[in-house]
Amino acid sequence: MSIGYNLLRVRIDLAALRHNYRLLNRYGSRLMPVVKADAYGHGLQRVFPVLAAEGADILAVGSVAEGAQLRQWGFGGGIVSLLGAVAPGDEELVASQGVIPFVGRGEQLASLGALARRMGRQVPVALKFDTGMSRLGFAPADLPEVLELLAANPGVKVALVASHLAAADEPDMPDKVATVLAQADRFDHVCTVLRAAGHEFDATLANSAAILLRPEMHHELQRPGIALYGANPLHGTSRAALGGELRPVMSVGAPVLEVRELEPGQGVSYGGTFVAERPMSAAVVAVGYADGYSRGLSGRGQMCLHGRRAAILGRVCMQMTVVDISDIPDARPGDDAWLLGGEGAGRVSPEELALWWGSIPYEPFCLLGLSPRSYEG
Ligand SMILES: *Cc1c(COP(=O)(O)O)cnc(C)c1O
Repeated sequence: MSIGYNLLRVRIDLAALRHNYRLLNRYGSRLMPVVKADAYGHGLQRVFPVLAAEGADILAVGSVAEGAQLRQWGFGGGIVSLLGAVAPGDEELVASQGVIPFVGRGEQLASLGALARRMGRQVPVALKFDTGMSRLGFAPADLPEVLELLAANPGVKVALVASHLAAADEPDMPDKVATVLAQADRFDHVCTVLRAAGHEFDATLANSAAILLRPEMHHELQRPGIALYGANPLHGTSRAALGGELRPVMSVGAPVLEVRELEPGQGVSYGGTFVAERPMSAAVVAVGYADGYSRGLSGRGQMCLHGRRAAILGRVCMQMTVVDISDIPDARPGDDAWLLGGEGAGRVSPEELALWWGSIPYEPFCLLGLSPRSYEG
């Protein structure tokens, strides 16, 4: 992103990333960390060497171009593109950079088969099956057609077979659990049929929640995303303890610009949606929706200042947000207000921020991570 217009401080704790990887590796047998969208906003260029040093020999990116970039940065292991070869030039990158694309349509498979013939060598792919997400992938009912296409395109090598669970993080909802179990059954069937036809591959189904919760769905490769970055996918469920030791990797601070007193009757920020009912102290913090800090947090969110909680007063502006520091008398201009993370009892967890945001931790990570980041650990 272009530099200089915001004052946000995004800190990435690589020691926490390492800790989370090791923790997940105790559950899973072989991890394929998901580093799409610039490692969920944490910065792929700095994240991948940590994962590689921990033993990750295959990573999942979003676009093929992101995979090619990862290759340029020097990652020598397997690179899987979850979005597949779709943009102009993607197939050339698949071939030249050794990116393994997700393939979920017959024409993609045939096109990569033609590429393999032109190059005179095999092109490894990850076959994607839709077992219940209604998003990308072949349907299990397409198996006969897929087998025919594979027979007609011997240059296409099935390296992986994948599907994605729609509700693995809702273990207390019987209908969601039933969906997950049905997806796993369909996936097992797909793998059995493909293996019976002579294809040899690594199967992969489990995301973060299923890594923690469902060892029977681990197959050869597991795909942790959110848990690597330290948000607990089982937060708020009866199984939350399974992810209780995960440590948030990202914290985000912004400086206090000004501290001011409010008289009873004074309105705060655009529209005066908050009116002081008593004398209060307020701090103006240099963060707003231009920094990815959602305007939906207006009147709902909180920050951490001097280890304590400061509630947002009124509307979040483009580059500023006003918070209540009536109970934090030592706050001064230049102090850090933490929108995510911070010290002591006031520390803001990713799950809390997501709750106020009306979202899940994935979204604040991706959006706040667009600002300049610094690294420690
Ligand atoms: C993003 C993604 C994952 C990771 O999911 P988490 O819930 O973050 O662990 C795994 N597989 C696919 C296909 C994905 O798109």
